[in-house]
Amino acid sequence: MKSFKEIISKANNKIAGIAAAPGIVIGKSYLFTKEKIEISKSPITDIDEALRNFEEALALSKKELNKIFKIAREKMDEIRAAIFEAHLMILDDEILLTSIRKRIAEEKVQPEYIVSTEISKYQQIMIQASESYMKERAQDIEDIKNRIIRNLQKKRWQSKIEKDVIVISESLTPADTLLFTKNDTKGFVTDHGGLTSHAAIISRSFNLPAVVGTHNATQIIKDGESVIVDGFHGYVFYNPTDEQVKFYSEKQKKLIELQKGLEEYKDKDAITTDGKKINVEANVDVTGEIDLVISAGANGIGLYRSEQLLDELGGFPSEDEQTIIYTKLASRVYPLICTIRAFDVGGDKFKFQDYKEPNPFLGLRGIRFLLDNKNIFKEQIRAVLRASVHKNIKFMIPMVSTLDELWTSKKLIEECKKELRKDKIHFDSKMKIGIMVEVPSTAVMSKDFASEVDFFSIGTNDLIQYLMAVDRGNDLVAELYQEFSPVVIRTIHHIVQGAKEFDTPVSLCGEMAADTLAIPLLVGLGLDSVSMSPATILYAKRIINSFSYKKAKAMAEECLQMKTENEIQQRILKFFEENNISRTRNII
Ligand code: PEP
Ligand code: MG
Repeated sequence: MKSFKEIISKANNKIAGIAAAPGIVIGKSYLFTKEKIEISKSPITDIDEALRNFEEALALSKKELNKIFKIAREKMDEIRAAIFEAHLMILDDEILLTSIRKRIAEEKVQPEYIVSTEISKYQQIMIQASESYMKERAQDIEDIKNRIIRNLQKKRWQSKIEKDVIVISESLTPADTLLFTKNDTKGFVTDHGGLTSHAAIISRSFNLPAVVGTHNATQIIKDGESVIVDGFHGYVFYNPTDEQVKFYSEKQKKLIELQKGLEEYKDKDAITTDGKKINVEANVDVTGEIDLVISAGANGIGLYRSEQLLDELGGFPSEDEQTIIYTKLASRVYPLICTIRAFDVGGDKFKFQDYKEPNPFLGLRGIRFLLDNKNIFKEQIRAVLRASVHKNIKFMIPMVSTLDELWTSKKLIEECKKELRKDKIHFDSKMKIGIMVEVPSTAVMSKDFASEVDFFSIGTNDLIQYLMAVDRGNDLVAELYQEFSPVVIRTIHHIVQGAKEFDTPVSLCGEMAADTLAIPLLVGLGLDSVSMSPATILYAKRIINSFSYKKAKAMAEECLQMKTENEIQQRILKFFEENNISRTRNII
């Protein structure tokens, strides 16, 4: 069979986008285009009738949205379902409604024109207010506006949604996405939107493959055409060749094959054949993934990327709002541990203000930003502490590069504790504090840091980029982004050795942990836990249960002597063969 690289490089019928929800699906496309709404500004004579029509359309829109909100509450977590609650609130906004009623009576033109202009004012404010998040919310309001207008025009919405199709659309509102999932939709492809767009979030919640941000899928793909969606890599193939269908059908089969027997690991711990237990935890990027964490049998949350909240909410939530979010999160996984990472803003992630930085990855990122904005940091610390009453929260600091940063952070944490005590607010006074080890300077001084913290979590995504001087998101230098480079392996070894001197537990939460090929090596290097996306947890548990720590350690020691990435990879592959372990790498 052809390799993935061959299939990709030869294809001139592929569209690339963002891999928003994992999985592979082959099926029929359904081009979802919304009818353009024509708005009439014609005069009216009967004001009472116009007002009655408006009230009826409003009531009907509310009824429709209530139905959607109900589905959302049944199928999604509360934070996500709240998107729909916010929509309903707009329909109850008395200022907006009064102004619409008043204008209908005064201007004596069709209510649809007044509704359109009034709600557009709302949207304009949002568009001007802030960045991308607000733009997405303005888009949602478009949905509400069109809903009322359609009801005023007494038109039916989308007459019939086809079943079992792959939806191709410019963008999808939360309501569209949810309704499609009710109709057994198999996957989503959109022109616009990123990882935090609703289509992406909802697809992940429902385990449906999705590729978003393709720019032009709706212009290229025809309705009813056969398509393949590769939600692992972010590719869509339209009118696929026999070879492509064969390749992806094989992949699907292998996935099913690999999934066989996996379920039994849900309730099993990851223990090597000679008895070393490894904690297999989950990385959580969006709150909606909590269900996946629970169903994947994770031993806890090893990394909660709290900065994702900023994308979802469009800014920094208040201390009280954060307290609610973190409390819910911790209670959902209780008694398991939830590791909340302080906002890792900057780099290629959420930017607070328009800092113009020539090298954002080397700039005001993570702890550097937080120490520069102590109020934001302290609010988050207090919220995390307040949520820690049940003693299942750990707090982790990103991008630490000097001991001073750690000392200052610890001082701030103590200050927050004092303030909470003064206000008689309960918290876990022994909440564990750890750091991400992801900057080479910290890795080099691992021993010194180990004596100061409760745990380490190695962030290989950044550690590799900083060690190899290679931008983690730049395709041009992707060849140099080598997770099995001797430099990376030796650095991990050095970090673990430093930690061991102070019995500081070490986890690894970079993507490397999700590369099943890396697992025996990481165990052999002495890691106590690994944290990865929920989708890989059961595979990791199965692999760990099939080799001995003793052998993995010996293999890791051999790898530490090697000089190239290739040599190390070959040695690990041999380890898989020697121990008869089935591999998932290169299959997904
Ligand atoms: C890492 O750097 O490995 C990590 C887990 O953090 P992030 O990917 O969020 O930077
Ligand atoms: Mg990082």
